[in-house]
Amino acid sequence: MLDITDSAINDLLVTSIAFKTRVIKILHLHNRTNNNGLFPPECIFCQKIEIKAISNRKTERAECFPSWKHKANAWENIESRAKQMGLDRFYTLVKDVDLFAVEAKHHPSCLRSFRTAFANHERRIATVPLVTCHQKAFVPVLEYLRFHIVQRNEIVRLTDLRLIYIKELKRNGL
Ligand SMILES: [Zn+2]
Repeated sequence: MLDITDSAINDLLVTSIAFKTRVIKILHLHNRTNNNGLFPPECIFCQKIEIKAISNRKTERAECFPSWKHKANAWENIESRAKQMGLDRFYTLVKDVDLFAVEAKHHPSCLRSFRTAFANHERRIATVPLVTCHQKAFVPVLEYLRFHIVQRNEIVRLTDLRLIYIKELKRNGL
C-alpha cells in the first residue's frame, strides 16, 4: 500500500487553499465587472493583468484563450478539472461558459500551474487509499454525533450526517 506523508498532504492543502483564495478574489472582481457579459481583463486564475513568470522572469500579460477549428481548445477541460478538484467557486465561474467567447484572460504560466495542480490531484487520488478517505470522512460524523446526541441529547437527521460525510469525502478529493 502506498503511503502519503503528512507534509505532502499539508503541501497539497496549502496549495489548494491558496488557489481557492485567489478564486474567491476574482469572483468578487467578476461580479463587479460583468455588465457587458465579458470577463474582466485580469487572468481568471490569478486576477492580475501582468505577472513575472517564475520559470524565466519574463513579464506575461493576460491573454485570451485561443480557439482552434480542428483541435480541442486549451480551455475546454478547465471546467471539468475544476469540478474534479472541488474548486466549487471557480467551477461556478467557468461552468457552461465559452471562455473564448467571453474573452476570458489567462497567463500561460497560470494555465500550466492549473494543469500541474490537476495532475497532482489525480496522483493524490491514485495514491491515497480509498479506505483512508472513508475513515477520515467518518471522524466529523462521530464528532457531530458526540456533540448533539451524547452531550446535548438532541435528535439528529440522517440527511445531515450524510451531508457531513459527503462534504468531508469531497474535501479529501473524492
Ligand atoms: Zn495569471
